[in-house]
Amino acid sequence: MQNTNHISAKKSLGQNFLKSKTALLAMIKAGEINSNDRVLEIGPGQGALTEKILETGAKVIAVEKDDRLIDLLNEKFASEIKNSQFSLIHGDILELNLEKLGFKTVDYKLIANIPYYITGLIFRKFLSGSIQPKKLVIMVQKEIADRIIARDLKESLLSLSVKAYGTAKKVMKVEKENFSPAPKVDSAILLVDNISKDFFKEISEEKFFEVIKTGFAHKRKMLIANLKEKFGKNDLQKIFQELKIPEKARSEDLKLEDWKELIKKLI
Ligand code: SAM
Repeated sequence: MQNTNHISAKKSLGQNFLKSKTALLAMIKAGEINSNDRVLEIGPGQGALTEKILETGAKVIAVEKDDRLIDLLNEKFASEIKNSQFSLIHGDILELNLEKLGFKTVDYKLIANIPYYITGLIFRKFLSGSIQPKKLVIMVQKEIADRIIARDLKESLLSLSVKAYGTAKKVMKVEKENFSPAPKVDSAILLVDNISKDFFKEISEEKFFEVIKTGFAHKRKMLIANLKEKFGKNDLQKIFQELKIPEKARSEDLKLEDWKELIKKLI
């Protein structure tokens, strides 16, 4: 293996390379990656995670934005490239056309130790986008993982917009010392499993996001007051009574299924 130490980490690309073998293997295990899988990896960096995915026998397509890493990766995985187990794309994941590359909904797994500044955009592209992965295993800031799983039992725009597409689980905390260079915050591995758009059989995605965004618009206000702004033509008190939602409820108190029932009644 080539010595890669001379490549200095670019902060602008969120480069914090993962050193912990335990964390790398935990990502593989969480994704239940095996030789039948096709895996899309975002930001292979110096290839630490790529190497572990390839060891399972899975086919890997990795997208790396930093041109300085392309030669290094091509060299490191020359034999896997040659036998078509691995292909490397030099580009920006946010601009990648999944359809053109032959990806189909839930026929691949997404695994990524991503730059944190694009976490939200990754969720949008891969969960609300039309070509969803079967499973998504992603390193995120620990606080973000806790918010998504609603550790404090309080839902948020973020938790609802992930849970509407799959079941979210915090796999393990990864302390900052496990990265080089160490970021300022601790991280966590997040798994989103059972990904689908089944939740949107009875309500549209558009209306779901419109209602939850309205519901969370003003944190200090009660949900009913927030909803009045856009959905005032409804008899909100009556709807809340029918759904057994306390009149004083706050948006964070409602679970995903409560939102669905509420949205079904709103015009
Ligand atoms: N996977 C490696 C690891 O675990 O050590 C590197 C992780 S590092 C946190 C993030 C990687 O994503 C970097 O290699 C960075 O260059 C790459 N990257 C940043 N923005 C990207 C983008 N928009 N598209 C693709 N790769 C990107």
